[in-house]
Amino acid sequence: MTKMFATSICCMDGRIQMPIYQWLQSNYGAKYVDTITEPGIDKLFFDSAKAEQIKSKVLISVNKHNSDVILVTGHFDCAGNPVSKEEHVEQIKNAVSVIKSWNLPVKVIGAWVDDNWQVVKI
Ligand SMILES: [Zn+2]
Repeated sequence: MTKMFATSICCMDGRIQMPIYQWLQSNYGAKYVDTITEPGIDKLFFDSAKAEQIKSKVLISVNKHNSDVILVTGHFDCAGNPVSKEEHVEQIKNAVSVIKSWNLPVKVIGAWVDDNWQVVKI
């Protein structure tokens, strides 16, 4: 099947949506990006109940759309999760390891969206 979908787990912030979409298109050949958002979503993976809610959405993207790459991001100036970049990076790394533990047949990537709205892989 032609690769069509990628999955983005990101904050609801409107400033990061297009950069993430374009980055997944350029770097992973995705035509469409399924997007799962919550404010400051990178921190939620420390809460197993919240991680399970996100997982149920991810499974739709992976099982119904055959997405083969999941990108989880944190970003500069996050109103929903106003911690330092260093803390975001730790949260993103944790999120990547939680998602990898789901053992889905997909690539799992973490990235930071910086103050120029550039997506930088972690
Ligand atoms: Zn945010």
